[in-house]
Amino acid sequence: MIVEPKVKGFLCVTAHPEGCAENVREQIAYVRGKGEIKGGCKSALIIGSSTGYGLASRITAAFGCGAATIGVFFERPGDAARSRPASAGWYNTAEFTKQAEAAGLYCANINGDAFGDEVKKQAIEAIKKSPLGKVDLIVYSLASPRRTDPDTGEVYKSVLKTVGEERKDKSLDTDKGQVVEVTVPAATEREIFETVKTMGGDDWERWVKALDDAGVIAEGCASVAYSYIGPELTYPIYRSGTIGLAKKDLEAAADRIDALLKLRRGKAFISVNKALVTQASSAIPVVPLYVSILYKVMKEKGIHEGCIEQIQRLFATQLYNGNCLEFDDEGRVRIDNLELRDDVQKAVFDIWPKVSTENLYELTDFAGYKKEFLKLFGFGLPNVDYSKDVEI
Ligand code: NAD
Repeated sequence: MIVEPKVKGFLCVTAHPEGCAENVREQIAYVRGKGEIKGGCKSALIIGSSTGYGLASRITAAFGCGAATIGVFFERPGDAARSRPASAGWYNTAEFTKQAEAAGLYCANINGDAFGDEVKKQAIEAIKKSPLGKVDLIVYSLASPRRTDPDTGEVYKSVLKTVGEERKDKSLDTDKGQVVEVTVPAATEREIFETVKTMGGDDWERWVKALDDAGVIAEGCASVAYSYIGPELTYPIYRSGTIGLAKKDLEAAADRIDALLKLRRGKAFISVNKALVTQASSAIPVVPLYVSILYKVMKEKGIHEGCIEQIQRLFATQLYNGNCLEFDDEGRVRIDNLELRDDVQKAVFDIWPKVSTENLYELTDFAGYKKEFLKLFGFGLPNVDYSKDVEI
C-alpha cells in the first residue's frame, strides 16, 4: 500500500517501512564514518532500543563497537488486513536486525513490557544464548506514559505537570503551527508519586538486580540511563515539574546501581542529554517551542547534534576509546554541554519573548522541527519513493 503521514496532535499514527529503514541506515553510516570505537562494549543490553536515544545507543554499540546487542522495546506490528502500518520502532528494529545480521553481529529482540518480570526473564535467556553469555553494557532508555507495578499489578500513569503552582507559559501548537499560551496545571501528590514510579529509577534498579541475580553481568559492566535538565526557561515544566522529580529519582538510583556494579569492577551513571525531537519529547508542553528555537541557534553556530551524534560522542569520548568519564558536581556525565553553553542559551533567551505565530518560521527552526518529527516516522527522507506501494 501507499503509506502517508497521518499526524494526530503530537503523534503520527502511520509509519513508512522504507523511510524508517533509510533512517536507520543513515545512522549506521554516520557511526561507521566515525570509525571504530576502541575498547568498546562487546555485548550490550538496550532497554528502549527501537527509537530515539535507545536506538542510537544500539546502533553505536553494534556498528561502532562491534557488539552483540539485545534490544527490548514495545512496538506494534503492521496489520495488512486493516491497512495499518506497524509503529516506527518496529520498522527501525527490522532494519537494524537486517543490517546487524549482514555484518555478522549477534542481535536478539524482545518486544514486550520492559517493566514486567516476564520480559526481564526473556532478556536474561537471550543474553545467555548470546556469544559472551553476559552483558558488559546496560543502557536504560525507556520513555513511557504508564507502568504496571510487577508486584501489585497497579497501573501508574505519568503526567507532565508542574509541582506547586500552575504555570502559564508560551508553547507551540505543532499541529497548527501557532504560538499559544498554555496553562500547565499543578500535579496532585498522587500524580507526582505515579510519575516518579513510572519514569524514576525503580525499574532500572530492578533490571540490574535481576541481571545480577541471573549471573549475566560481565566484569567491568557499565550501565547508563538518560536524563534531561535543560535551561531555567523550561524548569517549571521540566526540571522542577513532575518529570523532573522522576529524573531526580532516576539519578539517585544511579548511586545504588553503581554500588552494586562496583562489586564487579563496573559502574553506573547518568548521562544528561540534549533536548531533541523524539516521540517522547514532542508530548511535553513548552518543549517543542524551546527545541525549535534551540535548533535554529545551534544550527547557525554549527553545533547541532541529533540522537546519533550525541550517543556516538558519549561512547567515543567518554565511555570508551581509552577515555574516562567526566562528571559534573553531582556525578553526572553532561553531553548537553553544547546546548547549555552560555552563548547558546543567551541567544535562545533573546528570541523567546519575541516569537509569535507570525514570525515562527523566521525566528525559530520550526521547519526543521517538523521535518525531524516526520523523519521519526520515516517520512521526508530523500532516497525514498513515497509514491510506490510498500509491504507493511
Ligand atoms: P523515545 O520515545 O524515542 O523511545 C522510548 C523507547 O522506550 C522506545 O524504544 C519504546 O519502544 C520503549 N518503551 C516505551 N515503553 C516501553 C515499555 N513499557 N516496555 C518496553 N519498551 C518500552 O524516547 P527518547 O526521547 O529517546 O527517550 C529515551 C530516554 O532519553 C528517556 O529517559 C528520556 O527522558 C531521555 N532523554 C530524552 C531527551 C529528548 O529530548 N528526547 C533528552 C534527554 C534525555
